[in-house]
Amino acid sequence: MRKKNFFAGPSVLPVEVLEEIRDNIVDYKGEGLSMIEASHRGGMFEQMYDECLELFRSLLSIPDDYDVYFLGGGATLQFTMIPVNFLLKGKCADYCKTGSWSNKAASDAQKLGCVNIAFDDKENNYTHLPDPSALKPSENSAYMYLCANETIGGIEWKTFPDTGSVPLIADMSSDILSRPVDVKKFGMIYGGVQKNLGPAGATFIIMRHDMLDRRNENLTAYMDYALHSKNKGLYNTPPVFSIWGVKLVLDWIRRNGGVEGMDRLAEEKSQLIYSVIDSSDFYRSPVDKAVRSRMNVVFRLPDEELEARFVSESKNEGMLGLKGHRSVGGLRASLYNALPMEDVKALADFMREFERKNG
Ligand code: PMP
Repeated sequence: MRKKNFFAGPSVLPVEVLEEIRDNIVDYKGEGLSMIEASHRGGMFEQMYDECLELFRSLLSIPDDYDVYFLGGGATLQFTMIPVNFLLKGKCADYCKTGSWSNKAASDAQKLGCVNIAFDDKENNYTHLPDPSALKPSENSAYMYLCANETIGGIEWKTFPDTGSVPLIADMSSDILSRPVDVKKFGMIYGGVQKNLGPAGATFIIMRHDMLDRRNENLTAYMDYALHSKNKGLYNTPPVFSIWGVKLVLDWIRRNGGVEGMDRLAEEKSQLIYSVIDSSDFYRSPVDKAVRSRMNVVFRLPDEELEARFVSESKNEGMLGLKGHRSVGGLRASLYNALPMEDVKALADFMREFERKNG
């Protein structure tokens, strides 16, 4: 029996996708070759890759003036590539610090140039977001940066600031394709694929093409977005297995109602857990209700001993990954697109029963 997988990433994949990989791993659709043995230039890989990019474009309604491709290096490499490309001399970049991942991005950018902290909720332990309509880029801003969903803190922007002619750059690693996004509002959207899109390895890049006109010159090859744009991510060997998995997950998303279907599911699944939390004095959500994440539900129990018991007893019920990130403690249930509704219901039942026994 499959475990109920609440890991934050790598995380649950649709079982149909795993079966499709199993059925084709040795001989891809009768080609006599595995997808992960094929050259990335021409042939069956590139055909699959082009279909994958088209599908991604159509599911997220990405306008034609945006480049879409995949790189390696994880979302973390983008913490460096973004300032290396766009933090021009004489300008500053605005960073919104809303939790662990935006803090890491800001810290890397600070090593490379001038950073203005547009928002920092440190004093509240990163439990609140600013009012997006009150957030304006500073004068002489190179770009404004935010993390759409903080995977560790469980906090998610519901709407985004309007930054006018200053490009808005967003890390959407942990909520991509869980809701519609107006891509036109962003200069760049990126993220690791290992939560909502597929097996770990690839990083998706969505970038308005004219962003390339405002980048630094004389960049080394891999650092230069222009080179990747020109080669649609195939300048060097891409993470082929991960990309094949992404293509299959995107097919699965399309078959299951597209991004609107995922949006409805995310609402239903997260509401199931938040309603258990809100209807009890035993469970507590530390995050401002208005901006609680639908992908990563973070919650606490009255003490750490109970939290440890919750983790160990849930494991006995086949539920994995409910321990909060080591940096913040507590509990966290990641409810990504591929997590079946039955598993969320099972968690809600388990939570009620655990409260009955220990509350
Ligand atoms: N941003 C967010 C929001 C994340 O959740 C993560 C990883 N959990 C990262 C960035 C870093 O991603 P990677 O491990 O792919 O470098």
